[in-house]
Amino acid sequence: GATLGMLGGGQLGRMFTIAARNMGYEVVVLDPDPDSPAGMLASDHVCADYLDTTALQYLSKTCDAITTEFENVPAESLEYLARHCDVRPGARAVTLTQDRISEKTFLHDNGFATAPFAVIREPADLDAAARTVPSPAILKIARFGYDGKGQYPLASGEELAGAWQELGHNPCVLEQRVDLDLEISVVVARGTDGESRCYPVAENVHRHGILDVSLVPARIDADLEQQVLESATAIAGALDYVGVLAVEFFVSGGKLLVNEIAPRPHNSGHYTLDATLTSQFEQQVRAVCGLPLGDPRLLSPVVMINLLGDLWRGQTPPDWGTLLARPNAKLHLYGKREARAGRKMGHYNVLAPTLDEALHTARAIQQQLADTGTHEA
Ligand code: ATP
Ligand code: MG
Ligand code: MG
Repeated sequence: GATLGMLGGGQLGRMFTIAARNMGYEVVVLDPDPDSPAGMLASDHVCADYLDTTALQYLSKTCDAITTEFENVPAESLEYLARHCDVRPGARAVTLTQDRISEKTFLHDNGFATAPFAVIREPADLDAAARTVPSPAILKIARFGYDGKGQYPLASGEELAGAWQELGHNPCVLEQRVDLDLEISVVVARGTDGESRCYPVAENVHRHGILDVSLVPARIDADLEQQVLESATAIAGALDYVGVLAVEFFVSGGKLLVNEIAPRPHNSGHYTLDATLTSQFEQQVRAVCGLPLGDPRLLSPVVMINLLGDLWRGQTPPDWGTLLARPNAKLHLYGKREARAGRKMGHYNVLAPTLDEALHTARAIQQQLADTGTHEA
């Protein structure tokens, strides 16, 4: 049988591993953490740094194709592996999206609207940025930010120098804070033949910078939906992408703005595990292996809710009984050994004949879990 390599052992890698093994593949996971959620389910867990040449050599010899579950894999590792086997997505797409400066510049240069932004690399950039980007604004660190980490809200341009200092004088983008009608996202798969398949659009609600709830289908009109699908497909095309990619959008004053791109399956696509014919992880397997893409069609309205470590009492999980007693709720846990506040431990999907019903049940479950969970939450 064929063997697939996965760079990164988090929950996205774990759900990929499950899908791949279901389809008969062996999976080798590279992750320095011995307790990584994907590593513990893989056929083979290589516990080493992403730059470790022995590990990379081993992967390149063992694997028929290699993919990734996070955007911070070093470009040189992807380039090294690509000399020996298929690496999908390739180094260019991953490198471009791991830095907000290159990502936003790419979007701007290719005609995709974003919130107004300016690049800050050195002290001399501060004045121009404060002048060109209207306040209120958000200063975002260019690399390694996620779940709203490495972001600093600004009420006025005068706070910029101080905020940049707080972010360690690292390269940043200053972005106008736009009024959000709605946040939405879409997962798109693109095959080796250049054909793309878009999943239904998700409507996302964040709490404290972390995704809380996704509702599918998003409550947007057909015209906006069409723009979203076209835009995501065009982005995948412009990146000459092979694999699964997610695009996050803001809807502001009825207009579509691209927020960011993730070169991998996405948290807002976890509804596909239970509510579409092909999950985003099976789709990733198919795309990476050069197989025909699966059907992304939605089988039912669905609401996904994230389970954060805040719900745990110390290391004791909440009582899943009431969730499991509901026949239309599906629980997914990532097997993480340690629960911490803000850490994504799992999620659940609720399917119902209408989105309203799904949302009502999903919120009721969320309340029940909070009531039985920690009191500090
Ligand atoms: P992720 O975990 O999705 O990678 P991230 O840390 O990269 O998140 P962003 O997606 O840039 O962060 O921002 C997190 C959230 O903060 C957004 O989903 C949105 O709710 C809010 N936000 C970010 N930028 C803006 C903006 N320019 N205007 C309004 N809200 C914003
Ligand atoms: Mg991000
Ligand atoms: Mg985001």
